[in-house]
Amino acid sequence: MRTLIAGNWKMHGSKDWSRKPAEFDETLPSRQRTGIDVLICPPFPYLAAMAKACEGLDIAVGSQDCHANSSGAHTGETSAEMVADCGATYAIVGHSERRAAGESDSDACQKAEAALRAGLIPIICVGETLEQREAGEALSVVEGQIKESVPYGYDDYVIAYEPVWAIGTGKVAEISDIKEMHDHIRGIVGANTRILYGGSVKPGNAKDILATENVNGALIGGASLEMADLAAIARSA
Ligand code: PEP
Repeated sequence: MRTLIAGNWKMHGSKDWSRKPAEFDETLPSRQRTGIDVLICPPFPYLAAMAKACEGLDIAVGSQDCHANSSGAHTGETSAEMVADCGATYAIVGHSERRAAGESDSDACQKAEAALRAGLIPIICVGETLEQREAGEALSVVEGQIKESVPYGYDDYVIAYEPVWAIGTGKVAEISDIKEMHDHIRGIVGANTRILYGGSVKPGNAKDILATENVNGALIGGASLEMADLAAIARSA
């Protein structure tokens, strides 16, 4: 199974950031990335330019969200078809920052299905809050999210396990907790689905996280903004 190193730029960047894929490739050329898929998810307005900038570099581009419908009167929204039309091949859905803004498992599921219909690979994000972990509910919460957020009848999707309390906080889950959760998720999704870990992954902790059984890559926020850091994480995979 190929390791996926995915950068989520969130609401960062500018047109000028189209130079970043070439910067990444200079630091870690594609011939040195055997067995690793690299993905960058910029804000919507930069998708097409990023897809063009990634041409020939073996770096994929994805969106950070998509709408469940193909088109229609949905002011401010972007469909999976539009994302694909820009040259992207992945879409993150159900990120905890969107769940915090009211997105449900059912919304994430419909978005994931829309992404699949449009030929994109959805990265379906799940993860428990600190309260849920402290209450001993982490495994059951994540299991419930997966059962409700993964569309029925598809298998070309990625799960990103991102403990909410570890995102953007500098706190990283213990390797033993990551292993326990990823083993649990493996039992739900089967042998062929990539399971990413996300939550303050950085060059200094990536090696141990990526060496953990059933961790098939990482979803990286803050550290994906610097190509040297993203390349160092990919190199440690
Ligand atoms: C994320 O946004 O998915 C994420 C994991 O962010 P960070 O790496 O900054 O914690």
